Formats: sequence, structure tokens, C-alpha cells
Amino acid sequence: MGIRTKIALGFVILTVAVITLVSFLGAQSLGFTVDSSDLIHLESIKNDVIKQLSTQQNLLFKQAKECQKAIDNIGINNLSDQKKLSDLIIKFKDGLNLDYVQIFEISKNSDELWQINSSKNYLISRLFNTGPLSHHGYLVSEITINPQKNLKLVIAKKPELATKEDNVFCIFDSNGILAGKDFLKDYSLDALKDIITSNSTKQIRIGDKLYRLRSFELNDKTQLITGYSTQVATLVKTEINSLMLRLAILEILGFLVLGYFWGKKIFEPMKTLQNSIDKVSEGQWEKIPPEISEESYEEISSVAKSFNQMVNQLSTARINLIKAQKELAKKDKMATLGRFSAGIAHEINNPLGTILMSAGMIKESVDKKLPIEHEDITTIIEEVKRCRDIIENLRTYTRKTKPNLMKVLFKNFFEEMKEKVIKENEKGFSISFKYKASDDSYIFVDKKAIQQVFNNVIKNAVEASDNINNLIINILAEETDKECIIKVLDNGKGFECEPENIFEPMFTTKAQGTGLGLVICQAIIEGHNGRIYAERDKEKGLTCFNIVLPKASSNELEGDSVEK
Ligand code: ADP
Repeated sequence: MGIRTKIALGFVILTVAVITLVSFLGAQSLGFTVDSSDLIHLESIKNDVIKQLSTQQNLLFKQAKECQKAIDNIGINNLSDQKKLSDLIIKFKDGLNLDYVQIFEISKNSDELWQINSSKNYLISRLFNTGPLSHHGYLVSEITINPQKNLKLVIAKKPELATKEDNVFCIFDSNGILAGKDFLKDYSLDALKDIITSNSTKQIRIGDKLYRLRSFELNDKTQLITGYSTQVATLVKTEINSLMLRLAILEILGFLVLGYFWGKKIFEPMKTLQNSIDKVSEGQWEKIPPEISEESYEEISSVAKSFNQMVNQLSTARINLIKAQKELAKKDKMATLGRFSAGIAHEINNPLGTILMSAGMIKESVDKKLPIEHEDITTIIEEVKRCRDIIENLRTYTRKTKPNLMKVLFKNFFEEMKEKVIKENEKGFSISFKYKASDDSYIFVDKKAIQQVFNNVIKNAVEASDNINNLIINILAEETDKECIIKVLDNGKGFECEPENIFEPMFTTKAQGTGLGLVICQAIIEGHNGRIYAERDKEKGLTCFNIVLPKASSNELEGDSVEK
């Protein structure tokens, strides 16, 4: 069975359970439960009533026969002896416990009946009209007592009907209730219409009792409503409800058990898959389980197959990528080395050329026994120094020598820098310093190294300016909670490339440039656990270098030399 079938089956079971539970709760809230035993119960009451009616009808017929015999014995041939007849009628009525006894002659025209008991004549016509259970709910029996004279005897009696406790019934026709327990007497026919026409069991509350009622047709004019009271209804309800509840619990338990086992079977391979995916995404290729089992549900096995395939492809691609990366790195290294060497060669070539030229001049002077020019010696010394500086720079970058960090007050350090920078950069441009940080912030710095950074950044600003006389450099000291920031702003022509590129080794836009200055600055600042980055405010036409250094924590002593 595939996952889909199992899930579908699970849903069917769950739906049935939910429906059972909902009907149980619904039935609970409505107070009853419809069931077929209900109809059986109501029909048995109906049958009981009909049985009683027909027994009593038979009895009445027998009594009519007894009366006929008695009349025959007396020998009544006509209705002239009224005294005799009246006595006889009273005797029948009392002796047989009848409600009505009437003897009459049937004329051809039924309207001209000779009536012995004129006060009750309305009854007779209605009794005839309405059949055995007459208009007033009487059982009626009629018998011919003298065929020659066409005399008839009619006797009538109210039926005595009983039912078991809690069962109720009521017989009625279009004129109202004929017989039965009078529990419905407060109800009009209109109120009962719903029960009569519905052909189903209805529930109504009478007083503080609940009745379940149903209507049956006795004949074309007469209806019988049977019912039973709430005790019995409650009994049925309780049985059905507890059955439904047990069923719902069983279904839910079944669903849980099945769900657990199916879930386990479905989700275990999914979990393995998930673990493997996690490992792949974390890059732990070595720890991926060899292969995920493909012997599972169709759907999972196809996912496992695809995953295994993907892992294999990825792993091959990864190996290739690593190989390519290594090759690329090698090529990149070679290219960098080439650029580097070219840069160094170019950088060192210039001073060497000057040194060679000055040395040549000195040699010429010596050869010609002329005085040696002081300027030539100075040039040689300066150019040698320049070469040494280049070598020193390279060493700083390649060895990334650890800075010698000292804890200093940021404000003091800034003042010191200000003095040195101003002293070393009196070259015709305007430079200003502004300190906007608190007076008690400390930083760890290697003053010499940071000064080198300043010099390089200022030198770049000077070189980026078209006219040194118009150049303005502003140096601002700021701070955040955790960092001290030095901003070096210049109004030069700005970058000729993206600001990020300028920190690439050997990147330069200058004919004489080495592309090492900012790389070294970055190495120095990173040695301070800080960062350096450049921005350009095009609107204001300002280039800004941000040198960010972390603040020192207060528990480290001022002037401490700390290696970081
Ligand atoms: P170099 O000065 O030898 O070129 P750097 O690493 O110091 O090497 O600078 C790299 C490049 O960054 C420079 O060539 C220049 O294009 C750019 N640059 C640096 N500072 C500035 C600045 N203030 N304004 C414009 N461009 C700058």
C-alpha cells in the first residue's frame, strides 16, 4: 500500500470517527437519538390499541346479538309498545353497561327514521355515518331485529383502552379527540398537524416530560397518535449514545495506532533523508550516510533515489570544484606574484636608477679629481632609504608583524597624531582636526603603525587632488558605544573604481603606484582588531576613509603594553 492510499484510509477512518463523535455530541445537545427501535416501539403501541378496539368491537357485537335474542323472546313486532321497549332498553343499557341503545325502523328514506329516543337522534345518524369508531369515539354495533318490519337495534359504547405506563395514544378525527389518554387535550389539531403529516417520529415537551410521538392512519377519517415518554426515550438515547461514544473512541484509537505505525514507517526514512540533507547543507560530506535505503514506499523511494543521485552528482561536482579551486588559486597566486614582482621591480628600479646616476656622478668627480657634490650623496642616501622603506612595507604586509599595542586615551592619541601629521604634511594644502568623542575613551594602539596608516591615507588624498592648493583634508574623531572612529575626508577627485577594489593587493590607478599602501593599512588596522573602509559622498564631493578601532575595556590599565 502506497503512502497516498494509507493517508487516504487514515483520513476515511478519522472522518468516520469525527462524524460519529459529532453526531454523538449533536444528539446529546438535542436530547435524543433517532433509531429504528423507536418506530418499532410506537407501532407496537398502535397495534395494542387496534387490538383492544377490535376485541371490544367483537364483544359489542355479541352483546347486540344477546339483545336481539331478548327482543325475539319478548316478541316485539313493531314499535307501538313503547313502554315495553323503553323498559327493555334501560335493561340492556344498565345490564350490559352500554352508553346508547336505540331501536328504530328503517324507512326507505333514511331521513324519516322513526326514533324511539328523540333526544339522542343526532347520535344515531352520526353513528351510521362514521362507522365503528364513530364521531364521538363510540364503538357501534347494529343488528336487524325484525326483518319483516325492518327494525334495527343499535348499541354504542365508549371503548375502554389502556396502555402500559409511559406509553400514550390518542384517537381523533377532524372534529377533535375521540378516545385515548387526554395528554394531548391542550393541543389543537393545527399544533398536531406537524406530527400527523410528517410521517416521522417527532419530539414534543408536555409539561416537564418529553414525548416521542408518531401518527398512524386508522381509517380515512381517523388518526391514531402513539407516543412514549422521556424515560423510555432517554433509555434508548443512552444506549445509542454510549454505543456511538464507544465506537468513536475505538475508531480514534484505531486511527492513532495505525497512524503511529504508518507514521513511523513513513517518517523514519524521511528522517534519515532529513539528516542527510542537513549534513549536506552543513557541508559535512564525510558524515553523510552511505546511501539512503530505496526500499520504502514508492514515493519515498523515488525521493531517496533522486537524493542519492543528487548527492553523488554533488559530490563529484564538489571534487571537481575543489580541484578547479586549487588550480585557480595556484594561477591566481602566480598572477599575483607576477604583478607583485612587476610592482616591486618598478618601485625599486626608480630609486636604483637615481642611485646609479648619483654614484656615476660621484665616480666622475673622483676620476676628474673634482670635489664630490654633497647633493649626490644625499640623493643616494634618500633613495636607499626609499628602497628600505619599500622593503619594510613589504615585510609588514607579508609577515603581518604583530603590532605592539598600548592602551591610551583616545583623546591624547588623537592630539599626538594631529601634531605629527601636521609636522609631516606641510605641503600647501589645508588640514583640520576635530575631536567629537568623549574624553575618557581608551583604545589599544601601535602609534607608529597607525601613523603610517595616516600618512598613507593623506598621501593618497594629496595624489587624488588636481590642485594641491584647493585640497582640504578634515580629520574627525567620533565614537560609538564600543568603537572609536577616525574619519579622513578629502575633497579630491574621488575614486576611479569601486571603493572595495582599492584594498586589493597591487591595485593602483597611478603610474608610479605600487598598490600596496592601502593593503598595508588594512593589515595594520586588522592587527588592531579594527577595520578600514572607504566611501564617497558624491553630493558633497567628499572621499572618506573610516578607521574604526575597538574601545579598550576599563579594567585594563592605561599604558599597559598588550599584545593582541
Ligand atoms: P597606490 O597609492 O600605490 O596606488 P594604494 O593602495 O595606496 O596604492 O591606493 C590604491 C588606489 O586607491 C590608488 O591607486 C587610488 O586609485 C585609490 N585611492 C586611494 N586613496 C584615494 C583617495 N583619497 N581618492 C581617490 N582615490 C584613492
